Amino acid sequence: MSTSKNASGKRPTVPEPLSGGLSDGPLPPARVAPQGSAPGVDVFADMHTMGHEQLLLSHDPSCGYFGIIAIHDTTLGPALGGTRFWQYQSTDEAITDALRLARGMTYKSAVAGINLGGGKSVIIGDNKRSDREALFRAHGRFIQTLGGRYITAEDIGTSPADMEYIKLETDHVAGLLGLSGDPSPVTGYGVYVGMKAAARVRWGSDSLTGKTVAVQGAGKVAHYLMQHLHTENARIIVTDIDGEKVKRAVQEFGAAAVAPTAIYDQAADIYAPCALGATINDETLPRLKVQVIAGGANNQLAEDRHGDELERRGILYAPDYVINGGGVINVYGELHRWPVERAKKKAGEIYDTLLRIFDIAKQQRIPTYRAADRLAEQRVAAVAGLDRMWMGRG
Ligand code: NAD
Repeated sequence: MSTSKNASGKRPTVPEPLSGGLSDGPLPPARVAPQGSAPGVDVFADMHTMGHEQLLLSHDPSCGYFGIIAIHDTTLGPALGGTRFWQYQSTDEAITDALRLARGMTYKSAVAGINLGGGKSVIIGDNKRSDREALFRAHGRFIQTLGGRYITAEDIGTSPADMEYIKLETDHVAGLLGLSGDPSPVTGYGVYVGMKAAARVRWGSDSLTGKTVAVQGAGKVAHYLMQHLHTENARIIVTDIDGEKVKRAVQEFGAAAVAPTAIYDQAADIYAPCALGATINDETLPRLKVQVIAGGANNQLAEDRHGDELERRGILYAPDYVINGGGVINVYGELHRWPVERAKKKAGEIYDTLLRIFDIAKQQRIPTYRAADRLAEQRVAAVAGLDRMWMGRG
């Protein structure tokens, strides 16, 4: 499995007219084919290759809703994954993104040790539009048609208020106002314990005292991470494009501030990407002087080959979807009405999970990101295997 990459998010070019003339509402995105190829992706071929169970394409002309729900694997439980609201360049691009993101959720929940499958949905359109009620209620209705096989939550372009609209139509939604709330404290804690596991493997002790951590981004996850690092007397180097957040980290945690572009050049022990995806790439890799990469951002590797290159250079990489699993654990906790302490305890297991992954990588001589995939696949296969036994339930 590869980590999924963010969509480019360009506006559609020339929308095709709807045939049939049933709608005078907004048009779907154009089908834009790559140059020199036949138009359209082979959806069934992709589903077969990646192992998806189901793909639902839905449309409600009354509000200009064009939505896609992808369910990858429900061996472990109902498929959970957020709703992304994005101006995709084409329907194909949206389908591909939904399929890849859904698959990523199967792996994330599997290694987090929670009983959820992988799914994701996308709504195609301008995520700044203000008339949201009908759109998200339409989305909620289509989610309801799946009878609980898919549970949604927030993602890029959607907010807790949007989830409230979905909730008017279905119970299969998490991340509601007043329930589990902001997942960042649990995510930040998971990143912290994951970083300790990496330190143990790299330096023989999981103490971060005296270690220098270069933190990219001083947002929500980074804030909680830095809180733990500061308590353990780690040295923090921080950057953010938002000067106010940097100032706060300097004041609260005694962090040393650097310019956003300088974060890769620091003489640090650990690089903690907590802002954007794809920051481990051809340009940044030669500049990194660290021995460990452990941070909360999604999709840290620009491409899989950058994970291979980290391995070659002897930089220990804590796979992103493992170390930032606190977010999905928090949502799972909400579904099961866990107190936050229980979610935090579960996120604490990321420490042992990463030790196992580092061990698999060593034993099988594979990069850590591939070892994470293997561990996820093993858990899904093990639970699928249980189905052989008849349990007397009809
Ligand atoms: P956030 O928006 O609170 O923080 C991100 C910070 O990155 C912002 O302060 C932003 O100004 C900064 N930033 C953006 N571009 C930057 C750049 N070029 N250089 C330096 N800083 C830059 O978001 P968050 O919730 O803290 O999430 C951070 C990352 O962790 C994201 O990749 C997110 O997908 C991932 N993640 C978050 C959670 C969670 O629980 N919040 C869970 C899993 C994964």
